[in-house]
Amino acid sequence: MSGSATGDGGRGFTDAGDGTRAVRAGLPEPVRHEPALPGPVFAAHYHLPGDPTGPYTYGRDENPTWTLLERAIGELEAPGQDDVETLVFASGMAAISSVLFSQLRTGDMVVLPGDGYQVLPLVRAQLEAYGIEVRTAPTGGDAQLDVLDGARLLWIETPSNPGLDVCDVRRLAEAAHARGALVAVDNTLATPLGQRPLELGADFSVASGTKQLTGHGDILLGYVTGRNAEAMAAVRRWRKIVGAIPGPMEAWLAHRSLATLQLRADRQHANALAVAEALRERPEVAGLRYPGLPGDPSHKVASQQMRRYGCVVSFTLPTRARADRFLGALRLVDDATSFGGVRSTAERRGRWGGDAVPEGFIRLSVGAEDAEDLVADVLRALDAAAQ
Ligand SMILES: *Cc1c(COP(=O)(O)O)cnc(C)c1O
Repeated sequence: MSGSATGDGGRGFTDAGDGTRAVRAGLPEPVRHEPALPGPVFAAHYHLPGDPTGPYTYGRDENPTWTLLERAIGELEAPGQDDVETLVFASGMAAISSVLFSQLRTGDMVVLPGDGYQVLPLVRAQLEAYGIEVRTAPTGGDAQLDVLDGARLLWIETPSNPGLDVCDVRRLAEAAHARGALVAVDNTLATPLGQRPLELGADFSVASGTKQLTGHGDILLGYVTGRNAEAMAAVRRWRKIVGAIPGPMEAWLAHRSLATLQLRADRQHANALAVAEALRERPEVAGLRYPGLPGDPSHKVASQQMRRYGCVVSFTLPTRARADRFLGALRLVDDATSFGGVRSTAERRGRWGGDAVPEGFIRLSVGAEDAEDLVADVLRALDAAAQ
């Protein structure tokens, strides 16, 4: 929410550590006999005699449960920046589409990553159908720099999903701004405790809250945090006309989950590093990627702009059959899509057909189990898959 919102929130804790800020994020001023985090407000409309003035008029436009969640996410994405606004959405794709389709007009040009989230090619086709030119370049090596001339918007996804390449957000944002383009960063994989795109120069931080932000694999959610009031007004208008709003229950569950974000992020990061280190020793594992692994091609840039490296590890087994045997032999890691949850999941990405990855490519989302148990399970499954 904008700085005019009341409540101490975490705003009084701008300089505190991530755990402190996460547990307090977005909380209202304590009120005697009221809970610390008020429950979800289920309302299609609000009492509204006379002139229809806000904040709460109709349920598609605003909801008090969203307000608290938006304040919480804003405090984590941009601590101490009261001019920043956050809007929550029904899903990550709703948030992404709201930025692209509210900011771009026929005749504009946008630069997307060529190796980003698997739905981006569908988005691309829709943008092109509206007469918007789309250029793509890979995330690694800041290759998007080469196609920026004439862009109205630069879309960055770092680390990229599922390839885990990282680009230099500050460098790309400066180049884009020098050309008059806006910059959006998909912050899904990193979470606001992993990196803060606005501090690195981006105009928007956009993310799926379905993944590690909420971390339990039980809700879909998305958000946009932005500093440009005019641009955010257009994003808000888009949410209103498309109606891609989260339910109050989802919003409340998300806010409740934020309290443990730092605990989960630290634990999952440590577990992911342990699993990546174990995988590194295996001769059948190729193309191992984890930005937190010293020696990873992304590590140098990642260490300059990230504070945690996330929970996703990717690697390739020699064949599709071997990858399927590996997934089938895992006991602590469910074969499922998505990532970021407290329960480990993994999948053979090639089964979707949307990513340019080898048949044996596996995206492993490391959960909050005990590291020794996870490493043992992964090594045992690799042995079983070799038979
Ligand atoms: C999952 C994901 C999305 C889409 O989010 P939904 O909540 O599934 O709509 C967007 N970007 C990235 C990087 C993702 O991983």
